[in-house]
Amino acid sequence: MEESRTRVGIGYDVHGFAPPEAGRALVLGGVAIPHDRGLAGHSDADVLSHALVDALLGAAALGDIGTHFPSSETRWAGAPSTAFLTHALALVRAGGWRVGNVDATIVAEHPRLSPHVPAIRARLAEVLEVEVGRVSVKSKTTDGLGFTGRNEGMACYAVALLERAVAGDELEASWRRARAMWATACHRSRSRASAGRTRASRR
Ligand SMILES: [Zn+2]
Repeated sequence: MEESRTRVGIGYDVHGFAPPEAGRALVLGGVAIPHDRGLAGHSDADVLSHALVDALLGAAALGDIGTHFPSSETRWAGAPSTAFLTHALALVRAGGWRVGNVDATIVAEHPRLSPHVPAIRARLAEVLEVEVGRVSVKSKTTDGLGFTGRNEGMACYAVALLERAVAGDELEASWRRARAMWATACHRSRSRASAGRTRASRR
């Protein structure tokens, strides 16, 4: 079977707003957006970066954000979500892929995001090491409907297209490298899960 030259992946994420008194910053695509409240979450709750991580990992069939960046793992504690994107990029590159393009839609009633889109695109292009023309970010409201319409939180949809960056003999080696990185991440999350069960059974 001939290896495909392109692969597509989808990502989706949701975060609720933290109350204003929590003093959380609103971070989207690594850019701080002026607003009276930020999103709640273990990390900076960057809903856009999280959806993009899942789109990239999905396109390379390398698991999801929970496998690679569990909230229980201290090495990611306090890390900006753009660090997750950088790591996901390293994984897909190890698999022999490069980013063709990404596209995302942020769903939010407030604040108005369109004035911030150029800065977000520029930052994401920098993180993903591609020209800005390969990074699209859009925003829309739901006309007051649903949890986003009630200003309870934000959602984000993202897709990523990967292009084959290596060919022939290198391909097999790349896949082995990427699979090994994934297996290590899976093993770590399994160990954590069984450690959790042990603790729970002692209680
Ligand atoms: Zn998230």
